[in-house]
Amino acid sequence: MSQTMLESYIEKMVRQAVTSSLSNQLVTNEKIKPIVVANWKMNMNLDSISEFVYDFSKTNVPVDVVICPPAPYLYVLNGWQIKLNALFSIGAQNVHSESKGAFTGDVSAEQLVDVGCEYVIIGHSERRAIGETNSFIHQKVKHALNTGLIPILCVGESEEERKQQKTNVVVEEQILSALQNIQDISRVIIAYEPVWAIGTGQSAAPEQAQEVHHFIRSVLSKHFGVTAGRTPILYGGSAKPENAKEFSAMADINGLLVGGASLKAGDFSKIIQAFC
Ligand code: PEP
Repeated sequence: MSQTMLESYIEKMVRQAVTSSLSNQLVTNEKIKPIVVANWKMNMNLDSISEFVYDFSKTNVPVDVVICPPAPYLYVLNGWQIKLNALFSIGAQNVHSESKGAFTGDVSAEQLVDVGCEYVIIGHSERRAIGETNSFIHQKVKHALNTGLIPILCVGESEEERKQQKTNVVVEEQILSALQNIQDISRVIIAYEPVWAIGTGQSAAPEQAQEVHHFIRSVLSKHFGVTAGRTPILYGGSAKPENAKEFSAMADINGLLVGGASLKAGDFSKIIQAFC
């Protein structure tokens, strides 16, 4: 190798090392306090909620826990939350993008705050499946943030999209459209929920999820700067006591969004312990 070739080779190597260390710095997952979220979907009633809360009150909860019951039980759970000294926070499963008006069957962010909600799930695949578009999801995220709620933005690819190797494209598009024109994402939580893993008993492999979480962090980093290193990115899709520890060991998995396995306090507690 000639002197000039050697010099340009070294220069290239140094440039690559600097670029890669810079981009690693940007996507660094800073110490993020784990969050475990229960999505009860359209399950539970007054009796089973009392039973759940009684059992759950014995749980050691060193991480942030959010419980998202069906809307009619938000206020009931708020009562329990106060009695149990804020052992958990409360989240809603959905919200409208307007503050009030003729939207039969919908609930506004202001009403959610009124009954003690701090979080709200937005863009769950079960709602996307019944017609929620990226643009409606964007309006909801914006409104939730303006009202003081913390949005838990769900993103994830279908089985078909994964087969066609479109996971990153789909997830990036869902994130960028939901967060467009939002300058400060420091109060946003992302939940990566591959549609094929939700409620199927077939979770993503922890390494498979980590790969997408790392990609999500790099997208956030590229578009929203250094705060991306502090964005909690949760995994959701058939998480259970048996696999929670493996997910918790992944660098960019900062917690779980749990459906089926959050209905029994015992199982949910075991999942929480995996993040201690
Ligand atoms: C969900 O619906 O958000 C979810 C993760 O469900 P499950 O844990 O039952 O797959």
